[in-house]
Amino acid sequence: MKKTYEEELKAIACDIWDHPEPAFQEFYSCKRQADYLRDKGFEVTENIVGIETAYIAKYGSGKPVIALLGEYDALYGLGQEANVPKKRPNGQEMGHGCGHHLLGTGCIGAGLLIKDWLDKKKCSGTILVMGCPAEEAGSGKAYMARDGVFDNVDIALAWHPSDITQVGTGSSQSCIAAYFRFFGKASHAAGDPELGRSALDAVELMDIGVNYMREHMPSTDRVHYAITNAGGKSPNVVQAEAEVYYFIRSITNSRCQALYDRVINIAKGAALMTETRMEIHFDEALSNTLPNYVLEDLVEQCFDEAGMVEYTPEDFAYAQQFKEVGEPVTKDMIAASVTNKDELFENMKNSPLNTVFVRNKHSEDCSMGSTDVGDVSWVVPTATFNVASYSYGTPGHSWQLVAQGKSDVAMKSVYKAAEVLALASEKIFEDQTWIERAKDEFEKRTADEPYKCLIPKNVKPHVSGDC
Ligand SMILES: [Zn+2]
Ligand SMILES: [Zn+2]
Repeated sequence: MKKTYEEELKAIACDIWDHPEPAFQEFYSCKRQADYLRDKGFEVTENIVGIETAYIAKYGSGKPVIALLGEYDALYGLGQEANVPKKRPNGQEMGHGCGHHLLGTGCIGAGLLIKDWLDKKKCSGTILVMGCPAEEAGSGKAYMARDGVFDNVDIALAWHPSDITQVGTGSSQSCIAAYFRFFGKASHAAGDPELGRSALDAVELMDIGVNYMREHMPSTDRVHYAITNAGGKSPNVVQAEAEVYYFIRSITNSRCQALYDRVINIAKGAALMTETRMEIHFDEALSNTLPNYVLEDLVEQCFDEAGMVEYTPEDFAYAQQFKEVGEPVTKDMIAASVTNKDELFENMKNSPLNTVFVRNKHSEDCSMGSTDVGDVSWVVPTATFNVASYSYGTPGHSWQLVAQGKSDVAMKSVYKAAEVLALASEKIFEDQTWIERAKDEFEKRTADEPYKCLIPKNVKPHVSGDC
């Protein structure tokens, strides 16, 4: 990359690390990125489909259109001093525990490289750097997919910081998140128990019903809950209001919807048993991810050309301190789709940083957990990859990850991601058969079950829980 870009990208990533913001409230981060890209000659639109902290920065004209999916939201409870290999909160409520300050900045770097390339080649093609908020909570991209933001996009590309460098394959889970609120009648629990109707009983009976349902669910599915309102602190009051928050996950949208319908029936049963009233407040939902093998091959080719990040002895020494306070590395951490397992495990044991490219065979396996990139993959052929941004054994969403967020290792991952995203885009601009083949695969995958966003049309983007 050009040296000037590297310095400017580092400044952006560090600035966003210094200003960690929660989902749908990334006002500083969004403006910082949008202003920078406008300065660089991109045409920037803010406030996308009613989301104030989303932006699209456009450069070039005509077809094909490639979207780069950037993120910048942070996580609660993870304020941490930079570069300190022990837990030392820095007084901030939030921290970049998923590396999204790097993620969004890498997409900006790619946008700049592609802009220079388009200027030189003078060919048709449009690059969209997209600022996509609320990945950690809120499902930002799901609303963008539902409301047509990707309608004219040919290919979407994304990356995510990790402790390894690889091309993504396989799927992730569909997920529906909803609050179940019960309303009963308060009374003196000893003096007039017969007059009371307990909303807390309804929550408990709902949870028991769901826990019995577990025995009759596919092993790929997951349901988890938190009691977000137990009704109060006084056992001698029959609790008149109570609430439980559920995540319901499966491997496809239709199966997730069907499982959600079963949970709703259990909630209705709990209300009937307790003579309470039940309300459902839909919070958010995510689709499973559709892999695209054609694009996986393209990105792998780009890594073969771009090579791995090169580290200095100082980088290794830095990462070693964090490896020592991370999770011990074990062979079962390696995904089934990895083809160079032995080589990777040797590297995991002997080096603090990933220095061998992780090769995956194409896979349909569904990993547990969800991402809003899933919804994008249902409306446009999408590829994702990882670049090592921190030491082996760094847990996701941890203080260790936040601490390494401003390091040279982290910044090198931003430049590498930018380089690979740019290279993949240039190959698509030069040879549009990539698009034809990727779309052909996409159409086959969506032929039987076309995209149906799990978020009902009347649900607007909102801060998680504010529903
Ligand atoms: Zn993330
Ligand atoms: Zn995360």
